Amino acid sequence: MTLVDLTTPTVRSSRLVGLPVAIIGAGPIGLAAAANLVERGIDFVVYEAGEDAGASIQKWAHIRFFSPWRHLIDPASLRLLEGTGWAPPEGSGLPTGGEFVASYLRPLSKLEAIDSRIRYGATVDAVSREGMDRTRSAGRADTPFLLRIADANGVQEVTARAVIDASGTYLTPNRLASSGLDPLGLPAVAGHVSHALPDVLGRERHRFAGKRVTVVGAGHSAANTLLNLAALKREVPETQITWLIRNAGAVRVTTSDDDGLAARAAIGKRVDRLIGTGGIHQLDRFEILRVAPIQGGVRLIGQRAGEVVEHDTDVVVNATGFRPNLDVLREIRLELDEIVEAPARLAPLIDPNVHTCGTVEPHGFAELQHPEPDFFLAGMKSYGRAPTFLLATGYEQVRSITAYLAGDIASATKVQLVLPATGVCSTGPAGSSSCCS
Ligand SMILES: Cc1cc2nc3c(=O)[nH]c(=O)nc-3n(C[C@H](O)[C@H](O)[C@H](O)COP(=O)(O)OP(=O)(O)OC[C@H]3O[C@@H](n4cnc5c(N)ncnc54)[C@H](O)[C@@H]3O)c2cc1C
Repeated sequence: MTLVDLTTPTVRSSRLVGLPVAIIGAGPIGLAAAANLVERGIDFVVYEAGEDAGASIQKWAHIRFFSPWRHLIDPASLRLLEGTGWAPPEGSGLPTGGEFVASYLRPLSKLEAIDSRIRYGATVDAVSREGMDRTRSAGRADTPFLLRIADANGVQEVTARAVIDASGTYLTPNRLASSGLDPLGLPAVAGHVSHALPDVLGRERHRFAGKRVTVVGAGHSAANTLLNLAALKREVPETQITWLIRNAGAVRVTTSDDDGLAARAAIGKRVDRLIGTGGIHQLDRFEILRVAPIQGGVRLIGQRAGEVVEHDTDVVVNATGFRPNLDVLREIRLELDEIVEAPARLAPLIDPNVHTCGTVEPHGFAELQHPEPDFFLAGMKSYGRAPTFLLATGYEQVRSITAYLAGDIASATKVQLVLPATGVCSTGPAGSSSCCS
């Protein structure tokens, strides 16, 4: 794809007239897309795999956002909610995932104009074009999208004039081995491996209290879990906490005093302090290759500076991050960056090899276009494997995309985004490039 398509009429052809826009996922970005379409008077259907809005966030309901409320609410959604007398929570507060859903996302999803257009328990298994696989070109842009949906009634196919995939990445975690694959031997120890962000102080306490726990990964999910484990250790001192990372340091956890999101920097600082006082044992430059069962736990076998190393533990928390599920998009013509698996024009702004910032230039439909007309990745999924997505970015993405679908190119093109700077950036290979300068 070389040109940005600036010519889209509100609906491309008569075959598309009367069809809704399909939104995949009723997370914050999917619902923000819905709110923008309500304001534009464009019909849509939201397909949500879970039984409630924010189903993925509810899996980490016990974790606190590091962004304050004022950065977490979508402007179009706010306008709709305020129309019903809803008042936003105090702007500087930091909600937990559970509070975010209860106070904002669920009320948004219950607005009549949105609620009537959400299908819960509906998993999108595949997206294609009606009667066309990805190799057929003639008339492609005028052909309805086809979505295959699995729900309690079985599998069915529906059509749409455009697709906004806001299904996030939470359901598809990265793999434990440093190769990006499952480590050899995983099936035999799967019962000892936990998903990211377990509720170690609540629901899942029994799995962690008094145990040897190893958290694998260098990002905020790992740091959050380490802090909760440290709190558990204060109550149950036998709990042993190891932080296992493959690099020499956890570069992605900002501890800068200049971080515009103070709570984000505080997470990293508190972990550093706990390592300093011995509350957390840091095991760095450990590249996991294989795992093997041991009495009551797991042996992690890896390499460190060319040497074979082993580490025994009772439980492993896989906090190695998330990746987009692209399997469902096999028949869609995507143009993705080969490193981060984000849309090709967006990727240079967010590649973690170049910068660790949450700061990103304003971007909208133009950066998010693919060779497949009227198909967009938005929200967390649009960042591919990059870990720095912020909701404010996604809200501007879907504002621009929906303006484009409405044929309002002037508004779609005028992207604006003010994000708090991280205050810390890694630099590119030449010691150059700082994304938050
Ligand atoms: C622990 C944690 C803390 C974070 N803190 C912050 C913060 O402080 N500030 C900030 O700006 N960002 C933060 N983020 C990043 C980001 O804002 C969140 O991950 C946010 O949930 C992303 O929203 P989303 O709508 O793109 O995806 P999600 O919230 O993941 O929503 C996707 C939805 O799609 C559904 N779905 C998935 N697959 C399918 C399918 N095939 N068919 C139908 N439905 C499907 C899911 O059930 C889910 O409801 C944080 C992330 C995490 C994990």
